[in-house]
Amino acid sequence: MHFPVYRPRRMRRTENLRRMVRENFLNVNQFIYPLFVLPGTRVKNPITSMPQVFQFSVDMLLEEIKEVVGLSIPAVILFGLPHEKDERGTEAYSQNGIVQEAIRAIKDKYPELVVITDVCLCEYTSHGHCGILKGREVDNDASTDILAKVAVSHARAGADMVAPSDMMDGRVAVMRQALDENGFENIAILAYAAKYCSAFYGPFREAADSAPQFGDRRSYQMDAANSNEALREVAMDIEEGADIVMVKPALAYLDVIRRVKETYDWPVAAYNVSGEYAMIKAAAARGWLDEERVMMETLIAIRRAGADLILTYFAKDAAKLLRS
Ligand SMILES: [Zn+2]
Repeated sequence: MHFPVYRPRRMRRTENLRRMVRENFLNVNQFIYPLFVLPGTRVKNPITSMPQVFQFSVDMLLEEIKEVVGLSIPAVILFGLPHEKDERGTEAYSQNGIVQEAIRAIKDKYPELVVITDVCLCEYTSHGHCGILKGREVDNDASTDILAKVAVSHARAGADMVAPSDMMDGRVAVMRQALDENGFENIAILAYAAKYCSAFYGPFREAADSAPQFGDRRSYQMDAANSNEALREVAMDIEEGADIVMVKPALAYLDVIRRVKETYDWPVAAYNVSGEYAMIKAAAARGWLDEERVMMETLIAIRRAGADLILTYFAKDAAKLLRS
């Protein structure tokens, strides 16, 4: 395989030749669209650092979902902003909670749409941590019990899949058991298995109003320097019953996505997070980058790394481009 016998440019000469040897593809089936829901009616709040992303009241959310379904995007993931926050995040598992209400409304109108719910406490706790506190520490085992209650309440409202994002140890097993005991053995778990403590989440914290009131999340989210540890986290979640494992964020962790995919024959999702979205939007707004091309290049890179599914705020835009 050497020049001049092999000339790689031969197969790059025309678009049809390039299409014939293309190795990876984007397809709308791979997209999961994140949505933020809050109490009220006729609310559609823009999020400053995430252009074209909004916080919706349930009535407005249904209009957004009409568009999502029209674009053939198969799944959404819901994040809730509660009526009230408290120390233990009790609204997270209330049957009258905002996410539970949204699930029922969506399933009533669009029963085929796959509804995934984020399961965490940070949007619901007054201190903004992902679990409940013992002093100033996040108490792992007490938190997993509450997280399991949240998952069951989402399943009861009609969710198809629950997605624990808290990074407590052992929470997938506790959640699987609680779901099964309550008759929800067919509700899948999408585990945020390798979730890093990342500055790329910045814009999301505005969107979900979930910044911690003291300290940071380094005691439960992963250190950016590690990837062997990511494989151990993924192994644990698969053994505990995760149906899909996720790496988050995506772009700065493409190597982790690749290692997870090569090590485990398991569906892998990657979260193209708020900061990755905001960087492209901000540069495009200044005319510094071609937004469409950079968006598609980013998404195909995540696929090439090994992700089967991509959670992305670009889902609607990419679906429109793929259709045209
Ligand atoms: Zn959280």
